[in-house]
Order: sequence, then structure tokens, then C-alpha cells
Amino acid sequence: MPMNSLTFPILHLLSDGRFRSGEALAAHFGVTRATIWNALQDAESHGVRLFSVRGKGYRLPEPVSFLDREQLRALLADHANIYALEIHECMDSTNSYLMRAAAEGAAHASCVIAELQTAGRGRRGRAWQTGLGDSLTFSVLWRFDCGAGALSGLSLAVGVALMRALHELGATEAQLKWPNDIVSNGKKLAGILIELQGDMDGASAAVIGIGLNLRVSEEMRRAIAQPAAGLQELLDTEVPRDVVLATLLRHLADVLAIFERNGFEPLRDEWIARHAYHNDVVRLLLPDGREIDGIAQDVAADGALLVRAAEGLRRFTSGEVSLRVIA
Ligand code: ATP
Repeated sequence: MPMNSLTFPILHLLSDGRFRSGEALAAHFGVTRATIWNALQDAESHGVRLFSVRGKGYRLPEPVSFLDREQLRALLADHANIYALEIHECMDSTNSYLMRAAAEGAAHASCVIAELQTAGRGRRGRAWQTGLGDSLTFSVLWRFDCGAGALSGLSLAVGVALMRALHELGATEAQLKWPNDIVSNGKKLAGILIELQGDMDGASAAVIGIGLNLRVSEEMRRAIAQPAAGLQELLDTEVPRDVVLATLLRHLADVLAIFERNGFEPLRDEWIARHAYHNDVVRLLLPDGREIDGIAQDVAADGALLVRAAEGLRRFTSGEVSLRVIA
């Protein structure tokens, strides 16, 4: 659903988290109060939470720090020219958008960032929840000379990039959960969704989607069926959104350069060292409903999880398998 053209300009004005009256907003934009009201209704219909108090006006629940392309480029410093950056106000899913753009020839290292994502996706049709200003949601298109068949370790490699970035930012509790999650004390902090285009053995393209929570509102917590964490709660000081994004993108480019040359193997030890459930007893949920318990012993160079089960060492590839820890 396209957004009213006034909605984001108003949200920018409200981004300091303070009240603005409908009258003041109407005067600022030279429109009627009814037009302001319509634009704010539109924001709410796209999932933006707003407080409206009679006599005071409207405000956002928390200040929102919007991204600025030039500022982001400055923070990316020597990595700025790697990416073709696009910052969008609102879209359904950055992965869906970039998958479509990739099919139409979008450039290698296109990076699409959405301030507001209205239909974020997880694996197998699951939803990824976000709130305006509460998270970072972006996707990067990476084109590979090799076929999609050689990219099985990519989501684990991306996990290593996120670990490096989060630890640099001071979130030392952040850990990995096979195959594609970032957790902190068992709560989900970020998710990775990789979608591939191309042949198994010709050239291929990967759309790498990342959703990272900065803070988790009560409303979001209720909407998410599992415990969730936000980066800010792991840090002593508030780190600006654009600094977090630039740190993620720098490490992502570095890790993708390694992956491109040598695959997941050179990143494997680092991945295992950060696996939250390494050597723990885990349960693997298979697509046919079967459950297999064992010890998460290792990951292979192709990203498969190796589990010591009652019947011997079992190998799981990430496609349709979910891992749960057994307390
Ligand atoms: P798996 O272990 O198979 O990866 P998963 O439940 O973590 O399972 P994903 O597809 O990786 O599944 O992610 C989608 C799930 O993540 C949703 O079903 C929901 O439970 C959870 N989720 C959605 N939004 C958020 C969020 N912002 N923060 C944390 N978790 C979320």
C-alpha cells in the first residue's frame, strides 16, 4: 500500500519524540488539520505507533533517528564506494524488493535499507517484526561467479560478519545460533535471510537480508512468539543507528570478500567459537515433523551442522531444519 506523501515529512518532524499539535503541523506544511490527520492515520495503518493526546497533539513513543545517505557514506569511510546505497522510507520487505531488482539486473553490492518495513520475512514464510526507528532492516545483493550450489555456507559467513560488528560495538554477549540467528542469552537479537538466484553451477546472486533489533517495544515483544532482545539493552551507552549500520556493512563487505575467495572454511573456527550452543544438547526439528536430539559438535565447511546423536554423527543442512536447545 503506497504511503501518503506527507506521512514521512510529518514523522521527520515528530522524530524528536516531542508533542506537536495538529494545528502546528498543519501550519508547518500549509495544509488543513484534516490532511494532517489523514497522513497520521496512514502512518498508523503502516504500523507506526503514535500517541495522540487531546490538547497536546501527536508524538512518537520514542525519538527516531532517521538515516541520512551522506552521513552513512561518511561513516563507511573507505568502504563507502563498495555499496550502491538506497535508503527507502517504507517498503514491504527489503529482500523482496532486492530479489525483484536483482532479476532486472541490479548492480553487485546494491544495498537497500528501509526505515519502515511493513512485511518483513523470516524463513519459510514467517514474519519479521519491526517498529519505526527500533531496528535496522536492510538487504545486500552480492553476485558470485560460482553457482548457487557453492553458497551453502553463506548464511553462516554473514553471521560471522554480524558477530564481528556487534562485538566491535560492545555487545559481547551476542552469539550465533545455527543456522541464521543472532542471540543474546537465548533471546533473538537479529536474523539473516538469504535468498538465491541463478543456476546451481553458473553465475549466481544472493540477496542477504538482515534484521537487527535496536530496542524491542512491549508491543513488539507481544507480537513475537519467542524471546527477543535489542542491541541497546546490551550496551552501556546509546550507539547511533547509523553507526551500527555502518559497522555492520563494513564487516559484511570484508567477510563477503573472504567468502568469495575461499568460502566458509576460513571463517569456520570463528563461527564455532561464537556458537551459543556449541557442545550443548540440542533438538533438530526436521521438515517432516521428526525430531532428533544430540550434541551440537561441529559445523562443516559447507555450513552443515554436525550433531552427535544416539545413532552416530548426523549432518544437517540449513534449508528446512530448526535448532532448539534442550534445557
Ligand atoms: P529457526 O530456528 O528455524 O531459524 P525461527 O523461529 O528463529 O526459527 P526465522 O525464520 O529465523 O525463524 O525468524 C522468524 C521468527 O523470528 C518469527 O517467527 C518470530 O518468532 C521471530 N521474530 C520475528 N520478528 C522478530 C524480531 N524483531 N526479533 C526477534 N525475533 C523475531
